Amino acid sequence: MAFDRFGRNINYLRISLTDRCNLRCVYCMPEDMIFRPRSELMQDHEVIRLVHLFTNLGFRKFRLTGGEPTVRANLVDLVREIGATKGVEKVAMTTNGILLDRLAQPLADAGLTRVNISIDTLDADKFRQLTRWGKVEDVWRGIRASQAAGLEIKLNSVVVRNYNEGEDLVDLARLSLYQPWQIRFIEMMPFGDVADFQLAGVVTQEEMISTIESALGPLTPVNPGELDGEASLYYLEGAPGRIGFISSISHPFCASCNRTRLTADGRLRLCLLREKEVDLLSPMRDGATDDELRAIISEGIWWKPWGHGLAQDVVPLNRVMSEIGG
Ligand code: SAM
Ligand code: SF4
Repeated sequence: MAFDRFGRNINYLRISLTDRCNLRCVYCMPEDMIFRPRSELMQDHEVIRLVHLFTNLGFRKFRLTGGEPTVRANLVDLVREIGATKGVEKVAMTTNGILLDRLAQPLADAGLTRVNISIDTLDADKFRQLTRWGKVEDVWRGIRASQAAGLEIKLNSVVVRNYNEGEDLVDLARLSLYQPWQIRFIEMMPFGDVADFQLAGVVTQEEMISTIESALGPLTPVNPGELDGEASLYYLEGAPGRIGFISSISHPFCASCNRTRLTADGRLRLCLLREKEVDLLSPMRDGATDDELRAIISEGIWWKPWGHGLAQDVVPLNRVMSEIGG
């Protein structure tokens, strides 16, 4: 098992499969984003080897992300191999959903259990503004395909002031009255070059709750005080679905953090919002043994930072969100 020096058991890995994306969401990356050469990114066999090493250290839950994971070549085979690795109990994916129309069924057949699909608004024009060119109907097709494939569905919406903080929030929350989905609203976090825009556009959980309640009635907490992963959950009266808030800014959940991240270029990112990383890909390519790599991972996890420093105005500048994976 892997513990950090604060006694937290770290057993959940998010793997960024690529820094590339077929969208350019305004809160995630600049429009003229330059991607890394493919030779700098982990190859399939390197991802699989690391998954295996992480399971040796007690990791059981894996989430694939990006960039946009569905643009990675050979994704279905990779999911199948990760799912078949001894010790892996759950493989989930965070995706913008655009390519799920054709990929949901093969991914489910390969062992994927859940998709978190990003959809910030149901309004086609605003969706295009937020993603710079995306079509919301493509995401809907992906959601329907995921439903048909039997995948568990969560929807993610990053709330951005002056873009989707009003009616859009209410329309998404209303879906929980009709579908057994978790609709999760995310407070925008600051990274790198986009940090000023992000910090200026944060909408807090309290404000989101007030907007939803004034339109749809009271939100009742589910297991008050207990988080589902990183989300605090609520429901509208009679709703089959749940509404979650992921509020790193106004309600940090660092004390219960059990996760670490692997960037597409093979760095162990110990905290989403701290720059500290441990290079795993270079030692692997230099011939490190499994024992040596496990030791590097354990040592890195031991030094995982306690939490982010946003309250002290410390913003991670070395990467934008799409390079880490969320
Ligand atoms: N492309 C996939 C997607 O959009 O779902 C996976 C990668 S994306 C970086 C992972 C998650 O991070 C998405 O839910 C996205 O909305 C969220 N995200 C991106 N930038 C963010 C930011 N600055 N603050 C909070 N969440 C952000
Ligand atoms: Fe791409 Fe996801 Fe970032 Fe949007 S949030 S630009 S879909 S990686």
